[in-house]
Amino acid sequence: MKVIREIDEMKREKLGRPSGFVPTMGYLHDGHLSLVRRSVGDNSSTVVSIFVNPTQFGPGEDYDRYPRDEGRDLSLLEKEGVDVVFIPRARDMYPAGFDTWVEVRGITDRLEGEKRPGHFRGVATVVLKLFNIVKPDRAYFGEKDYQQLLVIKKMVRELDLDIEIIPCPTVREEDGLAMSSRNTYLTPEERKVAPVIYRSLLLGRELYMKGERDAGVIKREMERLLCSEPLISIDYISVSDPDTLAELSEIKDRARILVAVRLGKARLIDNIAIP
Ligand code: AMP
Repeated sequence: MKVIREIDEMKREKLGRPSGFVPTMGYLHDGHLSLVRRSVGDNSSTVVSIFVNPTQFGPGEDYDRYPRDEGRDLSLLEKEGVDVVFIPRARDMYPAGFDTWVEVRGITDRLEGEKRPGHFRGVATVVLKLFNIVKPDRAYFGEKDYQQLLVIKKMVRELDLDIEIIPCPTVREEDGLAMSSRNTYLTPEERKVAPVIYRSLLLGRELYMKGERDAGVIKREMERLLCSEPLISIDYISVSDPDTLAELSEIKDRARILVAVRLGKARLIDNIAIP
């Protein structure tokens, strides 16, 4: 397994084709590794990037304390049969004077885009840069970050990029909590409470399955469940169109329920498909 830190060296690397790419911010868990396994299975070569991207964090967010463990990440990736790990430096990705940005409009107006101004501009910009440097045939993204997945798909479509985006299902802990590097922020007490996030999504889906179509009713019931845990504060609960993320008042045949909560120092997001 090759570890590449220089952008020019990554650009020159001759990858086996087709090549798969898994962009990450490191501190890897089984969610990341499920994407890696999928890519290793589908492609002749796999590149994983580890880059905690400063431009997607807002002021006062967790960029400085975001968990990092490069040694552990590298040994996990080696075991998965990854060919190249790309670990660029922030000063090389964003040299002094850098001022070119990718703005994916519309779909970024709400939810994470609204709560984290500038977040998706940072995400789209870094992902386009990584695509240009790595030049993969396919790239793997988790449904855990559902809005991000839609933003990347839209960018690829509208900028005519020749990269196939492969969505991968959310990997969960045994109690349902979606795996996330940010789960390490939770105290043992908060960790015990955290599975209520997924339980609220299951409740939302169950109400739909029992015939409820009023999104307001579904959101109120979910809110009641989440509020039964005093440590949790809700950022948003949304019943959205699964393609445009427009808020729905009534569910016809498909929807996506998305939630964001604060729990102690962590801000956690999760979502579920309806039906
Ligand atoms: P991150 O390191 O958080 O930027 O995530 C890198 C990639 O892994 C993104 O495509 C995420 O959506 C994906 N990912 C993160 N957590 C999970 C999970 N629990 N299940 C599946 N994919 C995930």
